[in-house]
Amino acid sequence: MSDCPNCGKLAVKRHRPFCSERCANADLARWFEGRYRIPTDEAPTVHQGGGDPALDEEC
Ligand SMILES: [Zn+2]
Repeated sequence: MSDCPNCGKLAVKRHRPFCSERCANADLARWFEGRYRIPTDEAPTVHQGGGDPALDEEC
């Protein structure tokens, strides 16, 4: 038997390796967050806010 990685309680079969759905979700969320926070080589596009003047004046 293993312990819940989230809170250390005894894991249950249904939510292995977690003790409950709550812990499973919490860990999943954390995993996702960590994944999204990984910096990528691509810089985020900063098109928002400034707008593209060239688009409006084209005519
Ligand atoms: Zn737990």
